[in-house]
Amino acid sequence: MKLLRTIAASLFLISTSANAQTTPAPKLIVMVSIDQLSADLFAEYRGHFTQGFSRLLSGAVFPSGYQSHAATETCPGHATILSGARPSRSGVIANEWIDFSIPRDRKEMNCAEDPTKLSATPGRYFASDRNLVVPTLGEWMKAKDPGSRVVAVSGKDRSSIMMGGHKVDELWWFQGDRFVSYEGRSTPAIVNRVNASVAERIGEAQGPMDLPAFCQTRQRAIPLSTTKKVGDGQFSRAAGDAGAFRSSPEYDEAILALGAAFATEMKLGQGNSTDLLIIGASGSDYIGHTLGTRGSEMCIQLFALDQYLGHLFAVLDSTGVDYVVALTADHGGLDLPERSSQQGSAGGERVDPALVANTMGKDIAQKLGIAGPVLHGGSFGDVYVDPRLNEAQRHAVKTEAVARYRAHRQVHTVFTREEILATPSPTSPPDSWTLLDRLRASYYPGRSGDFIVVLEPRVTPIADATRGSVATHGSIWEYDRRVPVLFWRKNMAPFEQPLSIETVDIAPTLAAIAGVPIPVAIDGKCLDLDAGPGNSCK
Ligand code: ZN
Repeated sequence: MKLLRTIAASLFLISTSANAQTTPAPKLIVMVSIDQLSADLFAEYRGHFTQGFSRLLSGAVFPSGYQSHAATETCPGHATILSGARPSRSGVIANEWIDFSIPRDRKEMNCAEDPTKLSATPGRYFASDRNLVVPTLGEWMKAKDPGSRVVAVSGKDRSSIMMGGHKVDELWWFQGDRFVSYEGRSTPAIVNRVNASVAERIGEAQGPMDLPAFCQTRQRAIPLSTTKKVGDGQFSRAAGDAGAFRSSPEYDEAILALGAAFATEMKLGQGNSTDLLIIGASGSDYIGHTLGTRGSEMCIQLFALDQYLGHLFAVLDSTGVDYVVALTADHGGLDLPERSSQQGSAGGERVDPALVANTMGKDIAQKLGIAGPVLHGGSFGDVYVDPRLNEAQRHAVKTEAVARYRAHRQVHTVFTREEILATPSPTSPPDSWTLLDRLRASYYPGRSGDFIVVLEPRVTPIADATRGSVATHGSIWEYDRRVPVLFWRKNMAPFEQPLSIETVDIAPTLAAIAGVPIPVAIDGKCLDLDAGPGNSCK
């Protein structure tokens, strides 16, 4: 907490006096995405928050927001939030997909890369916004008023890029041990200052963080091997361990500190135009993947995040700017099956590695007498039949593969490209969607697979928990689709709407409040945030 306080304290000294004047449109839109925050987790903690989350809970609360599509991953999730477009429109179908046209051996395309360019950093791809094929709120704002400024900061490149869109004034993410931007951009002094603070922090060993009283009930070790356990940690780490820093509450503290620093340094919202500040708090996702969602670690993280959000809002308050905040998540998440099975939920298990497409493909190639790889993909989701096969081979491989996947006891269903594309884009509330509806919202021809494998609920697609990640998200099921959506502005009348909405509704809702026309067709609908007979959409 020290980092944000130090930066916030220095900024208070240069803040302007409160501006009592109110205008119809807010001067600053603040979009916060929490990477991996399921509606279930939010419901568990919401009554215990006292700081930033608690302020947002005094606004418009939609506890059943939906990342409505099937592939509930970070890149497609972030792409929905400020574009109003589902993956079937944004083109961002996954964190990574296979593109056989890439002129290199490795055909996996990262959602945030431009494969036609080479990065100056060894081992890195060239970061780019090119795979997002729709404009975002920041671009809509600049189309109306070129004076509007767009700033995006987050832990991951794809979070900043997919929310920031194609016309950003500042766009930063954390890489290795510091915040970086697109190659060729210069580093403002404020980023150097925050990076220096972060380097100092990483260089210090950290003792265990305080365990809030509520978290004591969550603290219990779950052994995963003779040397690995999760569930009772408190984030102590060695000096210089940037990896552990990234999987701790310190990470979000640094990200929010950089957001607050940009807000004051650039005087966001203090000019004639409405500005947009985008923050992707990535810490919960790293903690969820490495430690799960129901131990002391996530508990400490969420209480810490509540504090950091409170500090961010205090910094914004100190500027006197009339700002509106929206907060959501890019996807939910599922706890590790080893803990779930101890706690009243039998049946969760880890995926059978035989389902990985390459492994499945080897058996099929042998049976059909075909040389070389025939299937590409992971153990679920998009699976691609190798395009270098001839038409008869492709047909035989696809038929055999779909039958084999469908027969596996961990597979719920398989749908083919043809079945998905024959389904119209869904228009009903997202909690009523069929599996085909969800897959249709995720499907983008030219990028999506030849067929899609849907695992049974509660199958965790990580085969081995003894090293690396222990828990994840990405499924078609409710625990991964359902996320909170919160809006807050000073003096707004609070309400809670339990009926389902979509995260694609956020951008048109914010655009309406700011009086910004939407220049393209989108999937989302404006949500009326006026609790009474007034209508913020008109
Ligand atoms: Zn994510």
